[in-house]
Amino acid sequence: MSLSPANCRRRLLSWYDKERRDLPWRAPPGRDADPYKVWLSEIMLQQTTVATVIPYFAAFTGRWPRVEALAAADLDDVLHLWQGLGYYARARNLHACAQVVARDHGGRFPDTEEALLRLPGIGVYTAAAIAAIAFGRKATPVDGNVVRVAARLFEVDRPLPGARPEIQRLAGQLTPDRRAGDFAQAMMDLGATVCAPRRPRCGDCPLNAECAGYASGHPESYPVRASKKQKPTRYGVVFWAERADGSVLLRRRPETGLLGGMMEFPSTEWRLGSWTPEEAMASAPVDARWRRLRGDVRHTFTHFHLEMQVLAGRTSKSAAGSGIWCAPERLGEHALPTLMKKIAKHARGGYSS
Ligand code: SF4
Repeated sequence: MSLSPANCRRRLLSWYDKERRDLPWRAPPGRDADPYKVWLSEIMLQQTTVATVIPYFAAFTGRWPRVEALAAADLDDVLHLWQGLGYYARARNLHACAQVVARDHGGRFPDTEEALLRLPGIGVYTAAAIAAIAFGRKATPVDGNVVRVAARLFEVDRPLPGARPEIQRLAGQLTPDRRAGDFAQAMMDLGATVCAPRRPRCGDCPLNAECAGYASGHPESYPVRASKKQKPTRYGVVFWAERADGSVLLRRRPETGLLGGMMEFPSTEWRLGSWTPEEAMASAPVDARWRRLRGDVRHTFTHFHLEMQVLAGRTSKSAAGSGIWCAPERLGEHALPTLMKKIAKHARGGYSS
């Protein structure tokens, strides 16, 4: 079966005109989108869902309605408001990008993929999304939804991730010269609402007459995926160091890498093998009588599981340690990643038991 790009464009755009999702960062039909809102939403939407992003988007735009305001914000405030969206490097890049746009571009986002790609935190997908949606450029942003729709439309047999360049090329063949932004959003909406991962509603789909996956009788088997590798488990020991005045020791993680620049409770490195108490003691941040709390804290990152033993210890009121001492009830004022919140909850429960 051969697909007609012209038919797909016409059918999908007319479906979008009736069925488009009303999202807070989208311009009303026929109006220009605000590049700041498009950029902010696209950065927030990486790795998470529309429903999760909506309140964060409202909080950010309420507090920093323009890119210049975000550029002038304190990084800790940005990280703090970002808590719960994960992948904190994105929040740091968000702030850095706002500063570059405000300082070097007079507060206006560049309008081509090439120039957007030079900004911090903007990769191939995001550059294409902003260029198409905010500026109407002929560009093809391919996110997970678009991968699924295109893999089904063209019945791509090769498994992901190897098939990704082919899917990008095929999706690009569909992109129209005019209304490229609406078309990109239509593909995203179709993937989010009709061409669902498990049970695509092909009967309601404007593209069913063109879709090779539908014609195959088993559209849900596309995109084909390579068998999953198991995530490794890493192990660490974290120190809940409490001073006589009740405050606990926090330190800042290195600027680069996982959870870059976030606050944490001191710990050993997170390695593939477990730790003996003697080994862990070499990383203790202060002198204290350490005791292991019952139960470990488990957390899963994108590429590995983590199991943390928690050692709690009380130390003298004057103990220094490298970092800052913080009253437990004020931990919420710091940019703590979810893992550290779990550890705090666990440790505070441990003390009270
Ligand atoms: S016909 Fe079915 S499989 Fe094909 S694009 Fe539409 S919903 Fe997806």
